Amino acid sequence: LPLIREGDDLCALICERMLLKNGDIICIASSVYSKAEGHTRSLNEIVPSEQACRIAGKTGEDPRFIQAVVDASDEIVLEYPFVLSALPCGHVGVRAGVDQSNIEDEMVILLPPDPMGAADDLREGFFTAAGVETGVIVTDTCGRSFRRGQTGHAIGWSGMTAIRDFRGDTDLFGHVLKITEEAVVDEIAGFANFVMGESNNGVPAVVFRNCPSWEGHDNLYFSPDEDIMRKLLKP
Ligand code: GDP
Ligand code: MN
Ligand code: MN
Repeated sequence: LPLIREGDDLCALICERMLLKNGDIICIASSVYSKAEGHTRSLNEIVPSEQACRIAGKTGEDPRFIQAVVDASDEIVLEYPFVLSALPCGHVGVRAGVDQSNIEDEMVILLPPDPMGAADDLREGFFTAAGVETGVIVTDTCGRSFRRGQTGHAIGWSGMTAIRDFRGDTDLFGHVLKITEEAVVDEIAGFANFVMGESNNGVPAVVFRNCPSWEGHDNLYFSPDEDIMRKLLKP
């Protein structure tokens, strides 16, 4: 794919290069979706607030960049050693997922403000462009608790449930599973992220074919009340 600019029709560009089939799951990097939809900001046009300057003083980052993070956040869960944000869509991520890579100098890429809507729109776009019924996962590279290393996470999805629910199933010995809910959209996003790479691969879309379907639900995010890590970080 070329460098993506505001106004580009991502679905058409992908369908020109790949013959999609019914049932395919297409993972799209949130960075390119945001560039196509104009969810970007120029640092030169940002005047940092007192709060942004204060946080930037602690993290050693550009106050204008921190202002973009603050503006994208519903709540700042942690300020230092890195800014951890809860976004309006439910995602909790470092620097609110605001990126300075794979875009021109002095520009930042925001996460899509409505990632679920983004996935719906892309799914519709693939139907319009190629007449195919697909699933879509909008991905971002995210850090994790307890482990070093970033992995791909699903921040929006359409055409599937986020979770494959094993509760009530029996294991090989007849025990009833009580807890296991598999976050399948994150597993797929994780492998997509591996194919995409992080730097100059230029591969912002990955197609999964012949995935078996699954059943479950969409409650991927803990509610603030269930989220023990969030309560520990910000009682
Ligand atoms: P993020 O994980 O959504 O934040 O996106 P990344 O910046 O890590 O990029 C994911 C993949 O998409 C990498 O292979 C990038 O090189 C690629 N990529 C990012 N922007 C573009 C673009 O405008 N055009 C193309 N062809 N690839 C891009
Ligand atoms: Mn990103
Ligand atoms: Mn990435």
